[in-house]
Amino acid sequence: MNDRVILAIDQGTSSSRAVVFDRTLEPIESAQQEFAQIYPSSGWVEHDPEAIWASVTAVTSEALAKARVEPAAVTAIGITNQRETTVLWDRKTGRPLANAIVWQDRRTAKYCESLRREGYEKKVIDKTGLRLDPYFSATKLKWLLDHVEGARERASRGELAFGTIDTFLVWRLSAGHAHVTDATNASRTMLYNIHERCWDDELLRLFDIPKALLPEVRPCASDFAETRVEFLQDGTPIGGIAGDQQAALIGQAGFEHGMTKSTYGTGCFMIANTGGEALKSGNQLLTTIASDLDGQVTYGLEGSVFVAGSAMQWLRDELRMIETAPESEAIARATGIVDDVYVVPAFAGLGAPYWDPHARGAIVGLSRGSSRETIVTATLQAIAFQTHDLVVAMREDGISPAVVRVDGGMAANDWFLEFLAGVLDTPVERPVNIESTVLGAASLAALQVGVIEGIEHLAERWQSERVFTPAMTSDVRGQLLAGWSDAVSRTRGAR
Ligand code: ADP
Repeated sequence: MNDRVILAIDQGTSSSRAVVFDRTLEPIESAQQEFAQIYPSSGWVEHDPEAIWASVTAVTSEALAKARVEPAAVTAIGITNQRETTVLWDRKTGRPLANAIVWQDRRTAKYCESLRREGYEKKVIDKTGLRLDPYFSATKLKWLLDHVEGARERASRGELAFGTIDTFLVWRLSAGHAHVTDATNASRTMLYNIHERCWDDELLRLFDIPKALLPEVRPCASDFAETRVEFLQDGTPIGGIAGDQQAALIGQAGFEHGMTKSTYGTGCFMIANTGGEALKSGNQLLTTIASDLDGQVTYGLEGSVFVAGSAMQWLRDELRMIETAPESEAIARATGIVDDVYVVPAFAGLGAPYWDPHARGAIVGLSRGSSRETIVTATLQAIAFQTHDLVVAMREDGISPAVVRVDGGMAANDWFLEFLAGVLDTPVERPVNIESTVLGAASLAALQVGVIEGIEHLAERWQSERVFTPAMTSDVRGQLLAGWSDAVSRTRGAR
């Protein structure tokens, strides 16, 4: 039997996880469950909030059982979540009015384009740090209000509640007693003014959203709620919340100006800490709230690449060139750097810094000698080149990371990290625990209940496992980047 523990819930895009941590923030046990992705039509992606809730309750109970701890031993709960995904529910019954609209969903693209044509983008960027894009919650919520029968009337009568996934989970965990979110999740809704730190009345008018729908915004370590569900002890505090990428930066102890983390899961998300300054990007990166801790808001500059680990899944499931993602490492090591073939995995357009929804993937430079090994290696290289493009954008915006801390599933691949360090010409550092996201959620909860006394203790606890130092000549780097840039240019443009 273990004594007191911290429970972290990581509600992700394809699965929900629960991890039980001991009081020193070492993970003891975890459980994970996938849930259905719903694709009602082209470009639409939904989740059933009830399926999300069922998966969260199942993994929580399973993780506690595996760790052999009673619910009463949970000192505090931390939550991290897929960001931007939008849920609308009935305050009385707690029942969602419709499926959640997932961050990947593009159904509001035309509406966003029309607002852009009307000249609203600058205002949106100035207030929220975000681009006027379907990615964020505002236009998804408007869509629900406009298309679910009776929703708008009921919303104006104050009968409904909006939330990102964190808010929905806290509502359920507290049996409807708390309608709250944290500043990092709020900063991804496109309704929150990140400078004045409040819901923005002008944006609410623009998107036609009644303020009564919105949750209260709190710092990341707060008394968000106490649990009232049968699978946990009543009154267990929910003490920490952060959106998944911000939680990863916290898990990586990226508390100082310039510290940068890059998470390689399905996609790649990079955030640089810009301190108290909401740095405005001249290179199409996003400005976001990285954390609200100890009475201090820290901003971040964020860039995302849509396809990272999912390119490994493509090699495995569609091209059938590998049997498992980790196999890519041995193949690349045996092949060596590929300098003639470039894979551009723009399967769903290109993210930062290009933001080209019309780009599509390509393999450039094939010759008679190109093999399976060439393509596998070139695909790994592509993820590093895409990271390079983000780092260049950050450097131009005035942030030059001295080291990039990496995490996520793909960070297990040593060859990839060696190549990445070479291409970035910057050391790449991997922590002992590459599950930074869930560690970030646990850290916030631990801070709130005093198990950890301050963020300086989190920084002390962070442990480097290995530093990958750049070992690529500038000639090779230059040649590779020129080849990459040429390959990307061939995928661009409307079609
Ligand atoms: P997510 O949280 O987005 O589901 P994870 O952080 O669990 O993602 O990482 C899983 C991804 O990492 C998968 O897309 C998988 O293909 C990729 N991956 C896992 N191990 C390796 C490896 N050794 N080399 C390359 N890719 C890997």
